Amino acid sequence: MADSYDVIVVGAGPAGSAAALTMARQGLSVTLLERGKYPGSKNVFGGTIYRQPTAEICPTFWHEAPLERAVISDELWLLETDAAVRLGYTSQRFGRDPYNKFTVLRPEFDPWLARQAQEAGAVLRTRAWARDFTYDKALVTQGPINGVKLDTGEILRANAVIIAEGVIPFLTARAGLLKKKLPPAAFALYVKEVLGLAKEKINERFHLEDDEGAIIGMFGYPNATNIGKAGIWTNRESLAIIVGGPLDGMADRGLSPYLLLQRIKGHPLVKPLLAGAEPLEYQAHLIPKGGYEFIPRLYGDHVLVAGDAATMISGRRGTDLAMLSGKYAGETIVQAKAKGDFSAGMLANYQVKLNNSFFMEDIKAIHEEFRYYKKHPDADFLLSSTLNDLAHQFFTADLQTDKQKQQSMRNIVMGKQFPLKTLDDLWAGLHHWGAF
Ligand SMILES: Cc1cc2nc3c(=O)[nH]c(=O)nc-3n(C[C@H](O)[C@H](O)[C@H](O)COP(=O)(O)OP(=O)(O)OC[C@H]3O[C@@H](n4cnc5c(N)ncnc54)[C@H](O)[C@@H]3O)c2cc1C
Repeated sequence: MADSYDVIVVGAGPAGSAAALTMARQGLSVTLLERGKYPGSKNVFGGTIYRQPTAEICPTFWHEAPLERAVISDELWLLETDAAVRLGYTSQRFGRDPYNKFTVLRPEFDPWLARQAQEAGAVLRTRAWARDFTYDKALVTQGPINGVKLDTGEILRANAVIIAEGVIPFLTARAGLLKKKLPPAAFALYVKEVLGLAKEKINERFHLEDDEGAIIGMFGYPNATNIGKAGIWTNRESLAIIVGGPLDGMADRGLSPYLLLQRIKGHPLVKPLLAGAEPLEYQAHLIPKGGYEFIPRLYGDHVLVAGDAATMISGRRGTDLAMLSGKYAGETIVQAKAKGDFSAGMLANYQVKLNNSFFMEDIKAIHEEFRYYKKHPDADFLLSSTLNDLAHQFFTADLQTDKQKQQSMRNIVMGKQFPLKTLDDLWAGLHHWGAF
């Protein structure tokens, strides 16, 4: 006879482990399936986790979890080939308890989070690849989902399944929850390199002390006229550098991720930060970037979808939205178990919880952004190159009067393109970077 649980969670990333932990704490029998050899072994991110949302799941995690550095400095570099306009904020307050956000390594953080679920009573099964669902028998049509089938052919039964499978929504599609086919434009492709570097060197180069951390977000060069971003994260004894952009834009312009990585590492302002660092890992991963328009149906009879599989991404934030959506999915199943009702009508509470969350409105806004960038893929580039040209003109000690300088700067803005479009691009760029 097949093993039977209250609920099966597919995927031990942040979404799945948070869901499993929430339900196990309430005494439900939970099995958490992970196809990798351990949680986090297949997962890639920049990356930052955020204190307040993560504390909703593990209230004092920063005393217990494997964290790299407490981020005190955030910079945004608008890059040109040999220059950058740099914006930034550094706060010592972010370096003190209760902190703001942390850099982490997923191969360490994900197993820790899964362990919290195990300690609460969930059963974690690694190298367990859920390939399909099993269904109740019904007289005429197929009945509701009642379990999953592993790649080994083993069948596990449950009253409900939470799909937390990450960016490729294979099981979400199998459950009939995708509303539309996902085009390449609904994904961004990023590559990441982890480079080993001594702690003292990192602290010296990024103006940090002890376990303080810094993040630099970048756009403009190296993606040139394609929308896309790059970034550097400081870990204890390594740096993570990522670069990428929308899959369709990269394909249209023949941009290979490897080429982008070489370009960003060779940028004259980036190169000195990486000097002498030893490559440790090279990875690539997709991010769901379709926004609101591509959110699947989030629930059905006996099934819910959380995390990246549900497109819970807003700007640079994904892990916290994954964990919170996992928590809401878990809470919904706890309510369903109490009522003995796992029908879609009951599980619709999950949608209500998400609609009331702080992040759903932001995800809705990405719907607009997705459309905008499809139409104006050069907006980031124009913003970056215009601000660099303006800064160059402003800081050049030349022979112009102040009035002539102002005129030169106006000419730069007017000469780039039709001024209203510049304003429109500027608006979108600032919106994209979360300025409003
Ligand atoms: C380059 C990059 C940088 C990022 N930077 C940040 C950042 O700095 N901060 C941030 O908050 N977010 C960041 N994100 C986004 C963040 O990583 C994701 O939003 C988050 O990991 C989503 O969590 P998840 O649990 O939904 O999916 P995942 O973390 O992808 O976990 C899904 C898990 O499910 C497993 N799985 C999949 N299918 C099956 C199956 N059929 N059977 C069993 N197991 C299965 C996978 O092996 C995986 O372990 C970044 C993403 C990328 C790609």
